[in-house]
Amino acid sequence: MPTKIPPLSLTAADRVNRISRSIRMADRYLRRHFTFLNHQNLIGFSIWLGSIAGMIGMAALYYFDMAPAWSVILVNAILASFLHELEHDLIHSLYFKETWIEKLMMWGVWAFRLNTPSPFYRKKIHLLHHKESGQFSDIEEQMIGNGMKWGIKRIITMLDQGLAFLINARRVGKTAPRLDMKEMARAAFPFTYLYQGTSLVFLFGNAYLLAMPHVDPAFVANADFVQLMALVNFMAVVIGLPNFIRQGALQIVSSSMHYFGDVNPDASVGLLEQCQVMTTRSWYMLPFQLFCFNFGSTHGIHHFIVNQPFYLRQIAAGYSHAAMKKYGVRFDDHGSFARANRYGSTALTTGHSSLRSPSPLGEGVGG
Ligand SMILES: [Zn+2]
Ligand SMILES: [Zn+2]
Repeated sequence: MPTKIPPLSLTAADRVNRISRSIRMADRYLRRHFTFLNHQNLIGFSIWLGSIAGMIGMAALYYFDMAPAWSVILVNAILASFLHELEHDLIHSLYFKETWIEKLMMWGVWAFRLNTPSPFYRKKIHLLHHKESGQFSDIEEQMIGNGMKWGIKRIITMLDQGLAFLINARRVGKTAPRLDMKEMARAAFPFTYLYQGTSLVFLFGNAYLLAMPHVDPAFVANADFVQLMALVNFMAVVIGLPNFIRQGALQIVSSSMHYFGDVNPDASVGLLEQCQVMTTRSWYMLPFQLFCFNFGSTHGIHHFIVNQPFYLRQIAAGYSHAAMKKYGVRFDDHGSFARANRYGSTALTTGHSSLRSPSPLGEGVGG
């Protein structure tokens, strides 16, 4: 009988192939046994419609005083996180490919999240992310903080894309030749600017209304301004704050689970180093995972197989994770925060793939 080769003794390319095969196998198994899963267009469209209807429904409940603000913010943040997953799937052409319905869905996922660039532009930088993940040419992940030292600048970068652009665009532009700052600024029109403008009115308007009675006890606010602030505060509860929470949570998770700066640039083997898996053992990430559809746990699976819809990725995660663990993808690597996302042990914040250093956990060890 031939002797069995230990999984971690296989070449990196073989390990990548076996992981990809296992993920595909789980996908096929589920589609065969639960045939409704093959109606992918219908499922995607139903989640899209349900999430949007849910957000409008919660806004109506709030308007008629039938739901407290906190519940509307939490529920809408979760519904918007479904829309984010759908956007990502649409970027990978998983529903109604190249039809007007696909475009309608793209506009919908943007209009109900607001604080992201246009999905049509994001498609471009996201596909680049898959091609160049963890490299200095990757625009998408660097823009949300990957590779930066931990500190106030990185926290701001992770929480707000507008400020991230101001902090990061010039730096990223130096190493990512595909970044066109004008194109990125144009891609924020109109929804992101609407979000940012309204956020400023929300912050400064409310601060003004709260502060003025202390400055001048006889202060009476202008009636039109009070009415404007009522509208701004309503929009903040039903869409602004939910998306601020959703995006902050997603970016904290995403910029923690991707490795950066010393990832093998050859994707056929670099896939093993591009992402870690954050399971429930990373308990401190759970509040954030709640608002990004468990992204830290499942996004690594997506790097291996990009054409699996997000709900199937979650359903089959246990099986996919077992293969990833067996063949050496890292799990719950808490140290990546302190290493500025380096896969290796050296926390460097500049440089290129020549900075590759040995793994602190041993080559390809999971868990
Ligand atoms: Zn990724
Ligand atoms: Zn993707």
